[in-house]
Formats: sequence, C-alpha cells, structure tokens
Amino acid sequence: MRYKNPYYRRVRGSSTLLICCGYCKTDIALYQKLGKGTLLRMYVDRIIRSSVDLAGNPGALFCPNCQKQLATRVTLKKKNKEAYVMTRGVFNARQVRRI
Ligand SMILES: [Zn+2]
Repeated sequence: MRYKNPYYRRVRGSSTLLICCGYCKTDIALYQKLGKGTLLRMYVDRIIRSSVDLAGNPGALFCPNCQKQLATRVTLKKKNKEAYVMTRGVFNARQVRRI
C-alpha cells in the first residue's frame, strides 16, 4: 500500500483490518475498526494506509489493479464525518496485527 492517509487519526481500542479487493485480492486499505460485526463503511479518518491516494478525496474507491469499484464516498451529516460505504460482496476484510 503506497499511500499514507493524510487524514488518519489513531483510534484507541480498535482492531486493524486489512481490506482486499474481492475480485483480484489486491490489498486496498488498512483500517481501524471499532466494535464487532460486518464492515459496512470505512470512516476516512480511520484508514491508516491505502493503495488509493486519499489526499485528493476521491469520490469512490476503485481497485488500482482491476479497476472495479469497491466503495462510494458519503458525508454523514449527523456525525459530520466522511466515509466510504463499502459495496457488499466485492471486498474481503480480515483482522491483522497492528503495524
Ligand atoms: Zn481488484
């Protein structure tokens, strides 16, 4: 993963997930997840690193290898947060050790 996320903020008590493209298995992002359950969206400030440059605030996440769309960016007004809503069934997430 080439890019450090400029908006990254460390979250205490989170687990680290490695998100991969479900089509070609390319690594997409390292993400700090809070709580259990399925990953539905990634808050931008919880992404540690990614293979997509987040500095330009892309409106969607595409796999840099196979170009499939994996997520769409939204603004959550209640929380005043930016997030990527993951498209169901097109990515894999597994827990990894914090690095
Ligand atoms: Zn891919």
